[in-house]
Amino acid sequence: MVMPDNDNFDFHKRCDWIDSFDRNEEVFDVAIIGGGITGAGIANVLSGNGVKCVLFEMNDFASGTSSGSSKLIHGGIRYLANFQIGEVKDLLRERNYLLKHTDIVRPMNFKILVDEYSWKKSTLRLGILVYNILSGKLSFPKYVKNKGEMSEKIRGYFNYVDAWTDDTKMVIYNIVSAVREGAICLNYCKVEKIEDSNGTVSVKFTDRIRGLEKIIPARYVINAGGPWAGEISKMENSNFSGSLKLSKGIHIVVPSEKILSKDSIVFRSHLDRRQMFIIPRGEVTIIGTTDRFVKSPDDFAVDREDVEYILESARRIYPEIGQSDITYAYAGIRPLYGESDDPGSISRGFVIKSKGKIINIYGGKLTNYRSVARKVAKLYGKVSGKKINVKGKPEINYRRPNLVGMDLYEYERDYECAIFPEDIIVRREAYPFNLKDRGDSFKPLILEVLKINDKR
Ligand SMILES: Cc1cc2nc3c(=O)[nH]c(=O)nc-3n(C[C@H](O)[C@H](O)[C@H](O)COP(=O)(O)OP(=O)(O)OC[C@H]3O[C@@H](n4cnc5c(N)ncnc54)[C@H](O)[C@@H]3O)c2cc1C
Repeated sequence: MVMPDNDNFDFHKRCDWIDSFDRNEEVFDVAIIGGGITGAGIANVLSGNGVKCVLFEMNDFASGTSSGSSKLIHGGIRYLANFQIGEVKDLLRERNYLLKHTDIVRPMNFKILVDEYSWKKSTLRLGILVYNILSGKLSFPKYVKNKGEMSEKIRGYFNYVDAWTDDTKMVIYNIVSAVREGAICLNYCKVEKIEDSNGTVSVKFTDRIRGLEKIIPARYVINAGGPWAGEISKMENSNFSGSLKLSKGIHIVVPSEKILSKDSIVFRSHLDRRQMFIIPRGEVTIIGTTDRFVKSPDDFAVDREDVEYILESARRIYPEIGQSDITYAYAGIRPLYGESDDPGSISRGFVIKSKGKIINIYGGKLTNYRSVARKVAKLYGKVSGKKINVKGKPEINYRRPNLVGMDLYEYERDYECAIFPEDIIVRREAYPFNLKDRGDSFKPLILEVLKINDKR
């Protein structure tokens, strides 16, 4: 496939960038740590303002929490129960913006179930009405009786509309947009140490593919490490107050024929009355999630007890789902900033703390990544004295062309810096979240396409 080459963003370019650090001794305006949605959004808005950025991601882009979410772009109807009206309104505003201005966020119909474990019918009716009003639409929720499409334990449901996306695509598109604005974005590069040195910050990192250690100078550092943000804060020993808590959420994926609903479903588990989702995505349906404190940001294990909890909760609606139906399961770790002992009651909002040359971000959601990026960019403008325009930013200026098979994988290798098979299977194509065979049948072709990286 012949393509114009000034936009290429591949393993070769990544290595050239890293090797050039020794020769150029360039001081970067900003070094961003973390290539999830938070870091990607910030790199996009800052590079769009002519700020010279370098972004470090220790694995592939979007390999942390940003590929472990429920993939919803939503206001969080559940937060209304805690009277978090302002938060829901902000999230809905962001949802509406993304629906209007991007083609990677789509509307999705939801059924919120009524049974003996749900909120009362009158509370649900009022909650959905408020949710609709906050999202800018005055529409009255209608109650529909269950006519046998779900187990007889479910009395009925209300409909409402929210949105969904591919979380990994959202990250990759922001990363490529940033690169095309002049940012250097490096996957498989882990920041090991940050240190103040003569008015700049020296950032020591390892190229984990080639085993090289390097140091670059930057005027400011932005910690967008999601669940690892606490560990990164400790590296520079600045202002981490210790309030970052980590909560693991897992999802299971089953074939869609097991679920007789084209719409997504919101229900409360009969085991503990926690809200859960059933989300159809073509061939498969995602069911989740759990919310349990963990100690380490690396604890991505899918625990058996969590899988059993999800299965048992979902079986009350669709009794046929069994362990053997699970085609895939995954975990994500929520970075939550708050003090409560109950993860479900800690706000899903975000906190930005800066001290000296470091800006730290704790918490946040996929849905409001643009708000986080704009706030951080404004703060950077304030502390650095640079003029920063955040209107309409961060903007996703990149679209992957409509390609299939080998052409598609080559494109992802050459223009989205896919290096290993998982980079395409799990992230750029997100096959396990869409296909029953998790993309296994494409693996030989993907391996063939990526072989060229070995020789570089
Ligand atoms: C179970 C679950 C379901 C969710 N569902 C939704 C949802 O439906 N909708 C929604 O809006 N939000 C949802 N969220 C929240 C959302 O997924 C997160 O808020 C968001 O993805 C966090 O992005 P991030 O970039 O801050 O963190 P991450 O995506 O984790 O990115 C941080 C990155 O930093 C990298 N990193 C860490 N340390 C270093 C280092 N030393 N050097 C280099 N790189 C480093 C990591 O590898 C990682 O990729 C959900 C979260 C969970 C856990």
